[in-house]
Amino acid sequence: MLDFAPSPETAALAARVRRFVEEVVVPREAEVAADADRLEPVRAGLQQAAREAGVFAPRVPREYGGLGLDWRDSALVFEAAGRSLLGPQALNCAAPDEGNMHLLHAVGTAEQKARYYAPLARGEVRSCFAMTEPAPGVGSDPAMLLTRAVRDGAGWVIDGDKWFITGADGAAFAICMARTDDGPTMFMVDAGNPGFEIVRHTPTLDHAFPGGHCEVRFAGCRVGADAVLGDIGKGYEYAQLRLGPGRLTHCMRWLGIAGRALDIAMDYVNGRDSFKKRLSQHQEMQRLVAESAIEVHASRLMIWQAAWCLDRGEQALHETSMTKVFVAEAVNRIVDRALQMCGASGISEYLPLAQFYREIRGFRIYDGATEVHRASIGIRLLREAAKGAR
Ligand SMILES: Cc1cc2nc3c(=O)[nH]c(=O)nc-3n(C[C@H](O)[C@H](O)[C@H](O)COP(=O)(O)OP(=O)(O)OC[C@H]3O[C@@H](n4cnc5c(N)ncnc54)[C@H](O)[C@@H]3O)c2cc1C
Repeated sequence: MLDFAPSPETAALAARVRRFVEEVVVPREAEVAADADRLEPVRAGLQQAAREAGVFAPRVPREYGGLGLDWRDSALVFEAAGRSLLGPQALNCAAPDEGNMHLLHAVGTAEQKARYYAPLARGEVRSCFAMTEPAPGVGSDPAMLLTRAVRDGAGWVIDGDKWFITGADGAAFAICMARTDDGPTMFMVDAGNPGFEIVRHTPTLDHAFPGGHCEVRFAGCRVGADAVLGDIGKGYEYAQLRLGPGRLTHCMRWLGIAGRALDIAMDYVNGRDSFKKRLSQHQEMQRLVAESAIEVHASRLMIWQAAWCLDRGEQALHETSMTKVFVAEAVNRIVDRALQMCGASGISEYLPLAQFYREIRGFRIYDGATEVHRASIGIRLLREAAKGAR
């Protein structure tokens, strides 16, 4: 039998996170919006508050000081945290750290877990994930990877340029994907390595990620044999291991923003008149509310089902792909509608909708562009249909 009810403990935790975000996190938003340099100190302060409130590190296992939630319970908590752009930062469940933690915990050695995972889980450091390269290097097509790692005695030397590396400036380490003679491989690179350079910040539409999106260079970057993450040659496999759940947690967090955008728009139309009636009494406004509510609901159910697949130990590539396409597009539509319903106020910086609008757009591109996911969903289904497998 299908049961959509969360356990009483999870429902209580999600409610606590939602209250924490409303009472502690949202009041700090204006400070960061006015001065981007305040993001890091505000983030640190909010993380301390989240520790004290008992809502810190929801996905981190208990032995590392987290709440040890499974994917289904995380869906509720991440959505509640995601109602503010600062919420996932406060709870230490934001990208790219959340995906890096998942990967390190799954394939890191005991030494790598102690050195990289544990401080990341405690929120003492930030990290980045360095895969994408400027043309003609890897973007949507993983086979275009150009960065090379060559054996040098017992260790390796990495050379290559990366860009759009979120959070690189200020990160303690990078997980770098590089090509070796034995296939694509992931390497742990300390930010202090003299062969690791932050070349510049790329100016972008969005501004809410600490450390921005950076061009980074690995130039004669020497690392030891112990820098290999997992097995040599399994880089693509590990990328899928990271990106499958990673794209679902993006969906969970962005759904929180969508829900808040809808609430803001409903407040606006419930309090403003036009043509001798409340905006909310115009049928077109009711239609916009209904369409957004339907899409929030459908997104949530898709996320929960994909989370259930992950909890069963499945890779759920098909489910997370379909969910990512739908939620990324739905969230963009929901925020766009909310902005429209609020008229000029929606465009102003007096409401957070303009900022939400800027921040959500990238989600249709990163962790697999919508078109790439649609292509792989279609290819998979057609191949299985041809084999009579589905
Ligand atoms: C905000 C943001 C943060 C990011 N953070 C990171 C990060 O931390 N680390 C990292 O490594 N990378 C990061 N990226 C990079 C991201 O992973 C890439 O942008 C993404 O993989 C697409 O690569 P590309 O930009 O080179 O697009 P391209 O590969 O040049 O593709 C351009 C467009 O072509 C279309 N397209 C491509 N292939 C197909 C196809 N098979 N069928 C149909 N259409 C297709 C899609 O519409 C796509 O958007 C980030 C990107 C953004 C926007």
